[in-house]
Amino acid sequence: MEKRDYYEILGIDRNADSKEIKQAYRKLALKLHPDKNPGDKEAEEQFKEASEAYGILSDNQKRQLYDNYGHAGLSGQRGFSGMDDIFSHFGDIFSDFFGGDIFGGGRHSRPPRPPRGDDLRINASITLKEAYTGTKKALELVHHQLCSLCEGSGSKPGTDPQSCGTCQGHGQVVQRTGFMTMVVPCPDCGGKGSVIVSPCKKCKGSGREPVTRKVSATVPAGVDTGMRLRLAGEGEKPKVGEPGDLYVFITVEDDDKLVRDHSDLYYELEIPFTEAITGKKATINLFDENIEFEIQKGTQPSDIITLKNMGMPVVGKNIRGDLHIDIKVLLPTDLSAEAEKAVNKLHKLLYSKDKK
Ligand SMILES: [Zn+2]
Ligand SMILES: [Zn+2]
Repeated sequence: MEKRDYYEILGIDRNADSKEIKQAYRKLALKLHPDKNPGDKEAEEQFKEASEAYGILSDNQKRQLYDNYGHAGLSGQRGFSGMDDIFSHFGDIFSDFFGGDIFGGGRHSRPPRPPRGDDLRINASITLKEAYTGTKKALELVHHQLCSLCEGSGSKPGTDPQSCGTCQGHGQVVQRTGFMTMVVPCPDCGGKGSVIVSPCKKCKGSGREPVTRKVSATVPAGVDTGMRLRLAGEGEKPKVGEPGDLYVFITVEDDDKLVRDHSDLYYELEIPFTEAITGKKATINLFDENIEFEIQKGTQPSDIITLKNMGMPVVGKNIRGDLHIDIKVLLPTDLSAEAEKAVNKLHKLLYSKDKK
């Protein structure tokens, strides 16, 4: 849908002064206010439209951009995301208009949500043994926060940024290509409208500085690659408001001996063919723990012995996967004459019809 002209929306002349603009908006807002038109979608849309028009035309800089380039001149500006946004924006104007409480304990006077710091992310690599037992991991977190010297302005304390000469402080410049006229962010100030003349020594004008912080993460038994742990309140700490959270992204390293499949573990065990034939008691070492089990008489190459509930723990549950012992039967390749005689004898015993 074609965007309507802001002057037309407010029903005012292009030369209207700020008082006339405010009066026009006040009239419309009184008529279209959602509390006066509950459930009326059309009124709500018109209210939003009028608020947007007022937001632009009541701001001299934005109004000038709009006068010169129309809606295209405001392409970088943010609109309102919803009603609450409008009320938090024009809250004081509403109380000015309506004497504070005309709509009954106004939603427009709701205090703004307290600011909250950014969430941060850190990667942590742990061994399969650590994933098996659970562990405490000391991590070093490097992140950026507002520069403590210039408090984020980027300017040397005591100095101020200057209005950008290229865009005269508008943050936007007009580019002409053939018949096309486009408004683009100013290349010299990056759209900020101001430039730092004396950069802060500590952050070199960026307004942010790196900080290193030690954090300790409790990694529960059973974690797997791709899981993440949330450390509440360990994210960015803003000057005012709640800190964000820190997310620890886990990678579990491969193990030399064990292969993991979700909560199951696979262990490859080589045994001589004689033991496969006769069977035996076997022991393997699983993460510094001796596990005993029985290799049955007549075990075949590639048989898998499954030990129930001896695998990986499952995070947050009191259960475990299974441990699978993958049996590899070794055959001798270099027999002594005596051993060969014995094998021949064994062969006759086992397979010849004329056993003797
Ligand atoms: Zn600084
Ligand atoms: Zn500029």
